[in-house]
Amino acid sequence: MNKIEHIGIAVKDLEAAKQTFKALLGVDFYKEETVASEGVTTVFFKIGGVKIELLQATHPDSPIARFIARRGEGIHHLAFDVDSVTEKTTRLTAEGFQVLNPEARAGADNKLINFIHPKSTHGVLVEICQNKE
Ligand code: ZN
Repeated sequence: MNKIEHIGIAVKDLEAAKQTFKALLGVDFYKEETVASEGVTTVFFKIGGVKIELLQATHPDSPIARFIARRGEGIHHLAFDVDSVTEKTTRLTAEGFQVLNPEARAGADNKLINFIHPKSTHGVLVEICQNKE
């Protein structure tokens, strides 16, 4: 892992959350993007070297909707920058981590991503991501 790339926060009301985080961080978001395959609309802020990703469900069966129903709004995942999601997926799977997808997939913000189940990581959903070329 190279560094924390972003922190994902699940929210119910993206418009309200945008205003809250704009006021809190003192900067405006730089990107809003819907990833239909993941069932989310995302908004990104950048502060220092780290991004904050706000996630709102696009439909009631979205993983974000299920997360909020179970646990309420809040920190949803930590994302680590890696050189190769494919290589990390193979290595972490071999080491016994429960990686959610057999292969890297497209995420928001021009990334290839995968996730590690919180059961493998003491309750924290971990995303690994790399910039798409
Ligand atoms: Zn993320």
